[in-house]
Amino acid sequence: MEYIAEYYDCNHLTYDKIYEEVVKLALKQLNITLKNSDSINNSIITISGKNIYAKRSNPEHSRTIIIRKKDDVNDKIICIVGITNTSYDEDKQNEGGKYVYGKKDYHANTYLSQGINKIFEKYLDLIKSNDNRLFFYLLDTEKPDNTYVYNKTNIINYRLLETLGFHILNIDKINFSKYNSFFTSSIDSNNLKYTSFSKLINDITRLNSNNSGNNPSYIKEYEDKGEVIYYYMCKVLSAQQYDNFLKIWTLKTLARNEGKTLNIIFYKEKYNYRKNDSIPKETKNMTKSLESIIKKLNIEFEIIKDDKLKYEKDDYRKHRKKNDIRNQTLLKNNLINSGRKKECSLCGNNIDDILEVSHILGVSKINDLTDADINKFPPDFINDILIDNSNREDVFNKKYSLANCEDNAIWLCANHHKLYDSNKYHICSNGKIEVSEEESSEIKEYLKDHKSISCKISDRMKKFLELANN
Ligand SMILES: [Zn+2]
Repeated sequence: MEYIAEYYDCNHLTYDKIYEEVVKLALKQLNITLKNSDSINNSIITISGKNIYAKRSNPEHSRTIIIRKKDDVNDKIICIVGITNTSYDEDKQNEGGKYVYGKKDYHANTYLSQGINKIFEKYLDLIKSNDNRLFFYLLDTEKPDNTYVYNKTNIINYRLLETLGFHILNIDKINFSKYNSFFTSSIDSNNLKYTSFSKLINDITRLNSNNSGNNPSYIKEYEDKGEVIYYYMCKVLSAQQYDNFLKIWTLKTLARNEGKTLNIIFYKEKYNYRKNDSIPKETKNMTKSLESIIKKLNIEFEIIKDDKLKYEKDDYRKHRKKNDIRNQTLLKNNLINSGRKKECSLCGNNIDDILEVSHILGVSKINDLTDADINKFPPDFINDILIDNSNREDVFNKKYSLANCEDNAIWLCANHHKLYDSNKYHICSNGKIEVSEEESSEIKEYLKDHKSISCKISDRMKKFLELANN
């Protein structure tokens, strides 16, 4: 039997080095055993274009190796393997090209996400069924672990692909153990699939908080007539669109499995390619290529075009009318999007059903603050957290903002929350846990292993802790 690895001439020097391994791994995945008499050969497709760059921009091109079985008149396609981008591109070097990837100006999403639409398109054009005969293969895994192969954005993307059923053939080359403090649940190369919507949300928001300069997409949840509805604020500027494409596809899949409602909101973004342009441009919609791939994949989702969430404003008005500064949903959304690890700050428990958002400075204490008390907060502190920026002097607005600010919140399990709210212990402004001498011995015993809270204490959080202890 002859197996053929087919790829384009603009990638051939790079893929010549890996095609045999790729074919072996893919066949193994499909439970096809290679016999001694079998052979693996390559077949290089010439694609039009005056040089490698033009060839790679040709719509026909994709970063794929198409594996065929040569057994009859039609070489039957067995599967397709999507290949990542590489810094050590043999073909480009051969043409005198210089790669800057891996240096400061490199964007990690170019490694896997950019071009992923072409891989999926090739797959859908050639294999018109959804039986998971698309695999991926990572280049440069042998390079140092500070390269983009090991960047958290890509690590999450590997997990998204695996969750969606697209196996990465050489995923065992990645050592996942060093990411275990980052992810909500510990993982290894055999155990990468996201099994829970909320764990994926948690990892996405944690990743976002690491990339604050980039301001990526984020999620909010609201309760409407007793049902929780999730909103994913989706940004699609340049490479973000492909990262987001994998994220929303996976989120939609998990939400559907769990009976959750998830809406995708298209988020307008200002951008300006040339610094001298004074008028910023705005993203208007999903890009054509994203729209086309979503349609081809038959993913059920509709993107709502709205740059501001109307719900948030209505919610504020409602609370204002009732003079009610407590808004647990807003507090929770703010805490989720702060990216703080979603686990009890005392015991580390991360079971969703018993994890709660606790105020540091309680709502009743905030209600009791006088104007003079509020003026003791540094002005930029209040300005930074104000919910309604048009109404800076309004006392309700200030109290509402204080009550629902992420720095006034910590994750606690139900037990530690209850004990905190009933003053069985308090958290010092340096994070130390203090149990009063007068407490019962069973309370002391229950809390004895928790010396301080696990999350990092911001300056604002410190202020809330100080006030809470007064
Ligand atoms: Zn706990």
